[in-house]
Amino acid sequence: MPTAAAQLDAATGTPANPVMIQEDQQSQVLLSADSWTAEQVLHWAFTTYEKTKVAVASAFGAEGIVTIDVAAQVCPDFAVFTIDTGYLFPETLALIEKVEQRYGIHVQRITSTIPLKAQLEPYAPDLWSRDPDLCCRLRKIEPLKQKLAELRAWITAIRRDQTPARQHASKIEWDSAFQLTKINPLADWTTEMVWNYIRKHRLDYNPMHDRGYPSIGCTHCTRPVRIGEELRAGRWSGFAKTECGMHDRHG
Ligand code: SF4
Repeated sequence: MPTAAAQLDAATGTPANPVMIQEDQQSQVLLSADSWTAEQVLHWAFTTYEKTKVAVASAFGAEGIVTIDVAAQVCPDFAVFTIDTGYLFPETLALIEKVEQRYGIHVQRITSTIPLKAQLEPYAPDLWSRDPDLCCRLRKIEPLKQKLAELRAWITAIRRDQTPARQHASKIEWDSAFQLTKINPLADWTTEMVWNYIRKHRLDYNPMHDRGYPSIGCTHCTRPVRIGEELRAGRWSGFAKTECGMHDRHG
């Protein structure tokens, strides 16, 4: 198990000589990182990995917007990608363009190698309603896997209190599913912290959040939540499914 270097960078508080996670070892967690701020975690990420080997993955939800803003403060020239399933809301697509303009960045759209039409023919015209796991695998997970194969670390916006599968997420951990380091700078943030940050920094966000959509995915699989429901109750409504497969496992 690696430990944090004893000497800390005076400006950031992160290790002066970052400890590399051993990629050939499973379940490696840099425990000391859990006390770091989001800025410190991202500083570690951008100073540990080559520019072409670390990227922010964003679905442009509220947490994703915060992660991108913090990343921009720490490293103005950072890489961002999003998985474009072909079923994103127009509001999400418009927000991506706004973010590109605000930070002067290009968001790489990762799409499935299977065109939507080709997907429909061998399966069903409404695969998302018959077998959402397969639909997510075709439209999200396979393209993600190909993208992550280029990287040594990916940065996500997941928080521990979002789903049971995320409750053990560490700020820096080994992603055994995709075989690279996974960095979750907002792991210990609450919904309130996210929205306080967005208001304080006057960030653009998806207007659907103000219309009852705390979590926004594909058009077919997202509905507004009702009073008293959990934040992600509007995702895959009617199915036991709570994750698309990107963040199902930790450690
Ligand atoms: S969220 Fe729904 S439409 Fe999007 S990839 Fe998954 S099952 Fe398909």
